[in-house]
Amino acid sequence: MADLIDGKAFAAKIRAEVKEDSDKLISQKQVDPCLAVVLVGENPASKVYVGQKTKMAAECNIKTKDFKLEASTDQETLLKLIDELNNDSSVHGILVQLPLPKQIDERKVIDAIVVEKDVDGFHAINAGRLSIGGDMLKKAFIPCTPLGSLLLLKDHVEDLKGKSAVVIGRSNIVGKPMSQLLIEESCTVTVVHSKTKEIEKVCSQADIIVAAIGRAEMIDSKWLKDGAVVIDVGINRISIKKEDGSEGSKIVGDVDFESASEKASKITPVPGGVGPMTIAC
Ligand code: NDP
Repeated sequence: MADLIDGKAFAAKIRAEVKEDSDKLISQKQVDPCLAVVLVGENPASKVYVGQKTKMAAECNIKTKDFKLEASTDQETLLKLIDELNNDSSVHGILVQLPLPKQIDERKVIDAIVVEKDVDGFHAINAGRLSIGGDMLKKAFIPCTPLGSLLLLKDHVEDLKGKSAVVIGRSNIVGKPMSQLLIEESCTVTVVHSKTKEIEKVCSQADIIVAAIGRAEMIDSKWLKDGAVVIDVGINRISIKKEDGSEGSKIVGDVDFESASEKASKITPVPGGVGPMTIAC
């Protein structure tokens, strides 16, 4: 059976370090760190994420300013708010919760945030810095989910150099930045997606699998090499029948945990793996 990679415990350590840094900013530099959190609309998952981020920020002595806008908000209004936050010296970071409603061009909004306040790391310049790597990487804000996943890997794999890693998914917020971080660690990286041929075969040769697909429990033991390390980024809500026969739901990853645990050497659980790391990072 695979060893569990405990993201919850690791995330608590990160938050303690962030709090220390934050306390130093307050006491030594008279800077009161402040994050602006912008939520447009009523997406239930987004509301939960925003709530968690606000709570964790408070735990780390980081102030938050919440901006909750109607789902019907137009692009101009949102861009105006971003402009105000960019110019507000009491705000140090800006998080715009994605996805945004259809009438708004996400790329326009993300790239309107000044690079130094783009703490999500989605701005084209931050993405470019990550892609270039080396010294440029030191200047970049790195997207939190891949960063959290990499920290877990570094904590559990003795030497990443030369390891073969397959990243399943090529989104701008997880798959692509994850692959770039792993290249930077000198892994040999393959990115697979919905058009990849013989995807199972490709995955079954990897020392490391990072699954960021959004398909409940798609990856089972057949996809894995013996001893593979598995990072499950997926968060999927599925319906279940409760013991009393009533309908309920639960959160599962992109990996079939029971099956994958038979072959993997180490694996992140869902929940309790990448999720808490994302919030902490
Ligand atoms: P996207 O929907 O943006 O991307 C999904 C990727 O998976 C795409 O590249 C897509 O391929 C690929 N894919 C979809 N179906 C298949 C398939 N059958 N076989 C192979 N590849 C497939 O999702 P995100 O990257 O935003 O998120 C991925 C998952 O991670 C979701 O479950 C999400 O909820 C979760 N997540 C979790 C976070 C956390 O904190 N733990 C944070 C962010 C996301 P193609 O490009 O060809 O369409």
